[in-house]
Amino acid sequence: MRKKQFKAESKKLLDMMINSIYTHKEIFLRELISNASDAVDKLYFRSLTDEAVGMKKEDFCIRLTPDKEARTLTVSDNGIGMTAEELESNLGVIARSGSKVFREENAGGDGADNIEIIGQFGVGFYSAFMVSKKVKVISRAYGSDEANCWESDGADGYTISPAEKETVGTDIILYINDNTDEVQYDEFLDTYRLSALVKKYSNYIRYPIKMLVTTSRPKPRAEDAPADAPTEYEDVTEDRTLNSMLPLWKKNKSEITEEEYAAFYKEVYHDYEAPLRVIHSKTEGQATYNAMLFIPSHAPFDYYSKEYQKGLQLYSKGVLITDKCADLLPDYFNFVRGLVDSEDLSLNISREVLQHDHQLKLIARTIEKKIKSELQRMRDTDREKYETFFAAFGTSLKFGVYSDYGVHKDTLVDLLLFKSSFEDKYVTLAEYRERMPADQDAIYYAAGETKEKIDMLPQVEAAKARGLEILYLTDYVDEFAIRTLMQFDEKKFVNVCDAEANFATEEEKKALESDNADAEEMFAFMKETLGDAVQTVRFTNKLKTHPVCLSSEGAVSAEMERVLNAMPGANGEVKAEFALEINAEHPIAAKIKTLFAEDKDTLAKFTKLLYGEARLIGGMQIEDPVEFSTLMCELMAK
Ligand code: ADP
Repeated sequence: MRKKQFKAESKKLLDMMINSIYTHKEIFLRELISNASDAVDKLYFRSLTDEAVGMKKEDFCIRLTPDKEARTLTVSDNGIGMTAEELESNLGVIARSGSKVFREENAGGDGADNIEIIGQFGVGFYSAFMVSKKVKVISRAYGSDEANCWESDGADGYTISPAEKETVGTDIILYINDNTDEVQYDEFLDTYRLSALVKKYSNYIRYPIKMLVTTSRPKPRAEDAPADAPTEYEDVTEDRTLNSMLPLWKKNKSEITEEEYAAFYKEVYHDYEAPLRVIHSKTEGQATYNAMLFIPSHAPFDYYSKEYQKGLQLYSKGVLITDKCADLLPDYFNFVRGLVDSEDLSLNISREVLQHDHQLKLIARTIEKKIKSELQRMRDTDREKYETFFAAFGTSLKFGVYSDYGVHKDTLVDLLLFKSSFEDKYVTLAEYRERMPADQDAIYYAAGETKEKIDMLPQVEAAKARGLEILYLTDYVDEFAIRTLMQFDEKKFVNVCDAEANFATEEEKKALESDNADAEEMFAFMKETLGDAVQTVRFTNKLKTHPVCLSSEGAVSAEMERVLNAMPGANGEVKAEFALEINAEHPIAAKIKTLFAEDKDTLAKFTKLLYGEARLIGGMQIEDPVEFSTLMCELMAK
């Protein structure tokens, strides 16, 4: 019989399949099962209106038959089948759609991209050649009493010849490749591995996928067997259905219990705790899809590592297309787990790569909205849960505010929580704003490693003494997020350690100005003593009991300096600019004035000590601890 050749582009695609990388090979099974399911669908729908079909829903099935000795794996279905002409037109050319992807992808891309596409979406029947040296398709079409066999070894074209088949449907017989150094093709003959692949990719196919599975079991002991007799084993063979068929997300919400959601979540997403929230929705309109999303109750162990990958599972009509579709989630909601099942997406990306992309984007946009409104609802109706959520994933939201130059800040600002000095609990910015006195012109915050350390800052003590509410920023990203926000509800954010933070009355300010003007020369002398360490030295009226503090003058605060210099690759180049501020009410103020008039040498030493003290109180290290301690002892010995 004369062999027919594949069309040129089909041949190229075939070569690509045959040489595809290992990790993608397993998807061949998903592709064949998906075709089988389509074929069964066709006959099933026909059976609904045509009694002659003579089959009931439960008669339809897909069967896997691995044969280790013959090294074959057969995928059978009792669906609509194919005539000789259909075998020719369907399998002779790479599926029209498939060849189209190939053309588009090949226009400018390299091989690697093509393989990526195959891995994600597959190109149907031809993927059989990723694992097989020869493929036979024996098929009998519904309504015909003849069967035909399509046969090909991939490279040299194919033949079609008459064959025997008793029942309607299709058997696809794969002659599995010999093992190579890289790939143990044997695994595709192993019932354990095949079951796992069905669970992974085809769990929600509507028809049962069956396989005879033989397991070894301990034999029941004979009554009179001696106690130390070895356990004997026997092989037991049973016909198993490998897939669970009904996707939970296709059921109505009202029919699903909280326990069922939790069990599904734990099993599929490997979590030992139930999720905080489930978002289960059917969306129709521009994009039609089912989504089942989960907000976990805690961060997975690798959440803050580079290894963590965000993404949702993407299904097309119950068939898994990809396990982690990153495009469906914005980075700031990267903690959400779950899946999207859309009828609009074809398993064969092929249909229209671009349109496909467009659909995904549409879905991603609506999903983002759903997540946001669910989080808002949780914040308003179950504050305790929301705080648990925020403790686990708040950093991600704050990072989202700060990233991409702040374009997402309006989406996220309402979701933020901060600890406050009023009560030892979280507040939203709206709550802070609401109880803020009418004449307060800024939202005050302070940053540091812990709440305790922040409370030790002199400026914080002073602000609290004036009855101001202060937000505690203890997360490394906090101050960057706050600075990106700049303001909330027309009130700007001010760090209490910033020079511009001034809670004094107009009168107090005037008095201070004149104190500072009087001591101008003294401060010039002190500034000169400290060199570049500070920008300026002056009196302040914002300290309560503390003698000194450092206030940041520029765009970088002390805490930001610490965070930026702690980043990988930082070399300590980031420097905050400071003013050394001295409490005008403290006895030390009078003392330095006297020293300026009588003993400049001692004033220089005092200045260095005061600067060192200010750094220590501000949670920073002293630049020259030896000098500091020598100076201190010198004064103590006097
Ligand atoms: P696609 O499924 O994207 O059309 P395939 O290359 O997987 O591309 O299959 C080509 C065609 O072959 C299918 O559209 C279908 O008509 C036919 N076909 C494949 N497998 C089967 C099967 N098991 N039973 C009946 N027809 C099948």
